[in-house]
Amino acid sequence: MISTLAFTPAVARATDHLYAKVKAVVPRFEWELHAPLIARIHELKREKRAVILGHNYQIPSIFHGISDITGDSLQLSRAAAKECGDALRIVFCGVHFMAETAKLLNPGKKVLIPDLAAGCSLSESMSAADVRELKRQYPGRPAVCYINTPAAVKAECDLTCTSGNAVEVVESLGASEVIFVPDEYLAKNVAAQTGVKLIGWHGRCIVHEEFSAAQLGAYRRQFPDLTVLAHPECSPEVVAAADYVGSTSGMIAHLDVVTTPRVLMVTECSMADNVQSAHPELEFVKTCSMCPHMKRITLEGVVRTLERDEHEVTIPPEVEGRARRAIERMLEIPLRTRPR
Ligand code: SF4
Repeated sequence: MISTLAFTPAVARATDHLYAKVKAVVPRFEWELHAPLIARIHELKREKRAVILGHNYQIPSIFHGISDITGDSLQLSRAAAKECGDALRIVFCGVHFMAETAKLLNPGKKVLIPDLAAGCSLSESMSAADVRELKRQYPGRPAVCYINTPAAVKAECDLTCTSGNAVEVVESLGASEVIFVPDEYLAKNVAAQTGVKLIGWHGRCIVHEEFSAAQLGAYRRQFPDLTVLAHPECSPEVVAAADYVGSTSGMIAHLDVVTTPRVLMVTECSMADNVQSAHPELEFVKTCSMCPHMKRITLEGVVRTLERDEHEVTIPPEVEGRARRAIERMLEIPLRTRPR
């Protein structure tokens, strides 16, 4: 089916309004390859009553072209819980732990991911047995895990958090010491904002760990009129060298108050492309920081998944209830008015 798709006048009519959102970053010849797939995906969504959730790190043609709801892990978790309405299927354009979260919050819906191998270095850094061992070493401490973990790890923890709410989650426990896993850098960056002692793990994001304070210094020398926004999965040195630190949704919100003509978003490279259309006044200084796991999701893969109803995400029954409770406890904590 995919090989027969062509850029016809009908496809152009059905997709030209979407091209307006990406034309600053997607050349026309590339769009003419993507548009037939995008048009087909919209047909399939209607036929299969599917809703597509797209993470901020997806390519612009997925983010703007086919996603019904976009955002970071926290926004997509909330959307999965509240906004998927009477859809029968959720197609998750993100990585596996995110699709698992959507399934945990929507047990009655079919959750599909275009590539079951779309993993995450943080999620793979820790097992349920590792959490149990930490809890044995530090008895009585509550355990918080980052949302970037498999369901089996979530099941061992009291609640989950994201980069957008980690401080609130840790402080909600009222404990002086908290097990906080698996991201070493996020733990250090959260610890710097709270009096709670965090017992961490050695997981790292392969994208964010690559940035250095020296690199940021070089960008600032080349572009003196630059605002630097960094993700808290970066090292504390990078965080200290940034003008603003926050989740991807926090970074997007912060663009509204930037006063310099140039911005560097110290995170996965598709972010800047996805926000360009909303901020034509800004020049985004770009890095080559691509997440290979996120980029396993393709338009071709979404078509195949919807046509064949394949790559369903399932949760082992022995962890399902406990993992869901850990996420629901996080969602019960109110968000600050402005994302960070
Ligand atoms: S960017 Fe980092 S944290 Fe996000 S999915 Fe990729 S490896 Fe995981």
